[in-house]
Amino acid sequence: MNLELSEEQTAVRQLAKDFVAREITPHVVEWDRTESVDRAIVKKLGEVGFLGLTIDEEYGGSGGDHLAYCLVTEELGRGDSAVRGIVSVSLGLVAKTVASWGSEEQKRQWLPGLTSGAYVGCFGLTEPGTGSDAGNLATKAVRDGDSYVISGTKMFITNGTWADVVLLFARTNDAPGHRGVSAFLVPTDTPGLTRRTIHGKLGLRGQATAELVLEDVRVPASAMLAPEGKGFSVAMSALAKGRMSVAAGCVGLAQAALDAAVRYAGEREQFGKPIAHHQLVQELISDIAVDVDAARLLTWRVADLIDRGLPFTTESSKAKLFASEAAVRAANNALQVFGGYGYIDEYPAGKLLRDARVMTLYEGTSQIQKLVIGRALTGVSAF
Ligand SMILES: Cc1cc2nc3c(=O)[nH]c(=O)nc-3n(C[C@H](O)[C@H](O)[C@H](O)COP(=O)(O)OP(=O)(O)OC[C@H]3O[C@@H](n4cnc5c(N)ncnc54)[C@H](O)[C@@H]3O)c2cc1C
Repeated sequence: MNLELSEEQTAVRQLAKDFVAREITPHVVEWDRTESVDRAIVKKLGEVGFLGLTIDEEYGGSGGDHLAYCLVTEELGRGDSAVRGIVSVSLGLVAKTVASWGSEEQKRQWLPGLTSGAYVGCFGLTEPGTGSDAGNLATKAVRDGDSYVISGTKMFITNGTWADVVLLFARTNDAPGHRGVSAFLVPTDTPGLTRRTIHGKLGLRGQATAELVLEDVRVPASAMLAPEGKGFSVAMSALAKGRMSVAAGCVGLAQAALDAAVRYAGEREQFGKPIAHHQLVQELISDIAVDVDAARLLTWRVADLIDRGLPFTTESSKAKLFASEAAVRAANNALQVFGGYGYIDEYPAGKLLRDARVMTLYEGTSQIQKLVIGRALTGVSAF
């Protein structure tokens, strides 16, 4: 694995840094306070090509490899995890999955819109009764002539109220567990589909997280993505790559914590000198720095494996597990450096900690990542 970035990768990282400084940083506090990222950001993300990374140009994508995707995701995560999540879901979980599993017709129908930012995608797997145990989902899709009629409820759906299309997982036959699950691309304006914003989140407040209720939602049979009964494989393959993108976002969040802590430690004086002179403050900063580097290296390894066409699922779980736990530790350590000022939202540490906390929960909790890694090592499935 070559740790030196190519010219193209260096350029895309700089583009992302400039984008964050111009379009995100000035608005972060306001978006968090008002619980609303400005939706115009989606079009802007599309215009610079960040919603088309790794997607073929013939479908409107901007090409690039998975390391470039990680670099952009990291910078967005450094700027605002609420915005980073929009990309990780609309591109990472939806567009990339359509590109991998979709028919030619489905790719032409959805990819140009998703990559340009004309459409937003969301990923509908979790339900009120099934999170970690996603294979036991209850949403049903019943065949009726040339259509499927879908009923059920999806919970905690990122981009849910913004989305134009939901990659939805539903049970199409009575086979037990995940074997009866199929995937569908459902336009969110289909009659019978309603959405409710979930308010009061600890973090990612600017992001549109929603509950989706489907009551007799009729879609043509051609809306099915991949063969019938393959839905769970579709979901797991999307999440395996998605976890790399969450990990990269966590690296960015932890880097933001480090930058903020170093800056503040140089400015704040106690006992007659900047607190950076106190060794226990240096310890907090050094702990963050080691977490950032280790998380970044684990994440880049996943990108390298994907780009070389090698197996990456276990490494992706390792990266997501470590980077998400590291992001929580990093934000918490940064808040400690800020002292009491870390506890109010004029300073960045509190938001970083609130945003970090969900990273060990979504796209598979830390416990689930450990089961994935443990299964790969022992050959024994604990699921
Ligand atoms: C802000 C936010 C955004 C989200 N976005 C999306 C989205 O876009 N699409 C989507 O489909 N979902 C989304 N989710 C849902 C998320 O993926 C789930 O919350 C997550 O998978 C955990 O499921 P759960 O909340 O039902 O917890 P549960 O599965 O009920 O778990 C509760 C606890 O039990 C533990 N546990 C469960 N099973 C085991 C086991 N076998 N062994 C050991 N421990 C176990 C878990 O680790 C956890 O600590 C989002 C969630 C949040 C909070």
